[in-house]
Amino acid sequence: MSQPISGFAAKSPKSPLVSFSYDPGPSGGFECEISITHCGLCRSDVHLIDNDWGISRYPFIPGHEIIGTVNAVGLSVENVKKGDRVGVGWQCGACFECEFCREGNEQFCSSYKPTCVDRNGGFADRIIVDARFAFPIPESLKSEHAAPLFCGGLTVFSPLDHFRIGPSSRMGIIGLGGLGHMAVLFGSKMGATVTVFSTSGKKRKDAEKFGASRFVDLFGEGIRESDEETLDFVLSTAPMDLDWMKIISLLRPDGTLCFVGVPRKPLSIPVFSLIDSRKRICGSPIGSRWDTIRMLQFAAKNGVRPQVDLFPLQEINSAIERLRRNEIRYRAVLSGSKKVSKWEDRRGGA
Ligand code: NAP
Ligand code: ZN
Repeated sequence: MSQPISGFAAKSPKSPLVSFSYDPGPSGGFECEISITHCGLCRSDVHLIDNDWGISRYPFIPGHEIIGTVNAVGLSVENVKKGDRVGVGWQCGACFECEFCREGNEQFCSSYKPTCVDRNGGFADRIIVDARFAFPIPESLKSEHAAPLFCGGLTVFSPLDHFRIGPSSRMGIIGLGGLGHMAVLFGSKMGATVTVFSTSGKKRKDAEKFGASRFVDLFGEGIRESDEETLDFVLSTAPMDLDWMKIISLLRPDGTLCFVGVPRKPLSIPVFSLIDSRKRICGSPIGSRWDTIRMLQFAAKNGVRPQVDLFPLQEINSAIERLRRNEIRYRAVLSGSKKVSKWEDRRGGA
């Protein structure tokens, strides 16, 4: 008999999470079992709980910014070993055979597996995942700081790196929440001049503390004519609809507006607003395994430390409620117990 995994699950859209256990079944040779100590709460967990994207299957345990200790590994696991402190993010599987996997872009794999869609995630005592998506954590990063890096941190680091943000970049960040504040931390450490666009005037001081040189209160002074054509790159982390024409007007020629946050409505943009100055609009999903490794190294080396609000795992519903009210400063991290199971009982094929 395998030992059940216990956590907190959503049983229907928009309802509070409730205690839930499941039998993880037999484990494969590439898998490892992790005793979870910390798990960040991402806005995507709330989108999944609410079934905003129409992909949620209930009941399920959310949570995809997971930190813990490896309890056991399958016979084919090479990158982690028992006792290692590791993290797991949004993605926990890929085919490893398609052209995207082979070129190191597993995040584009058409059969990629998300950690808490159609399976159970990290608001639990343990998880079993493909060890190729479990990454050892640099010693200098505390677990509560490392957790948010695994989804939020990676999701902002990857496009900043891809679009070569550096000392000459003038960058805008929309939304100073979990992803947004990590984008300011990473962007400013990359040397960029960062402007934050926020709906919360009271976050001004924090934005400066994270490294922004300018703060625009969207509900206060708003975007002015003098802001037009001042930025090379704008990263939108906001899960809401904005006046996108106004945001595009911020871009200099050849500038890029990159979406990582998911607005509710489709965009409606006159194409001439892009053609005239060769502007680009794009989106970006999480990052690759290689991005994850480099992101962790960059964070460890450059002192990127997310600001976290710590909650015991039992208080997950209160953390979710506060996130819904935009009261988290700036990432909620749930901290759970350490429980070791008998891996040998569950291990199946090689
Ligand atoms: P978050 O912590 O809630 O931050 C979002 C920020 O957006 C808020 O702090 C707030 O900042 C701003 N905002 C303005 N109006 C809002 C509203 N009506 N509701 C909520 N926020 C509002 O969320 P997050 O975890 O950073 O995630 C942000 C978005 O990125 C979500 O849509 C999430 O699903 C998505 N995401 C995408 C990926 C990917 O792979 N592309 C990965 C992770 C997350 P101000 O107070 O400063 O305005
Ligand atoms: Zn996430």
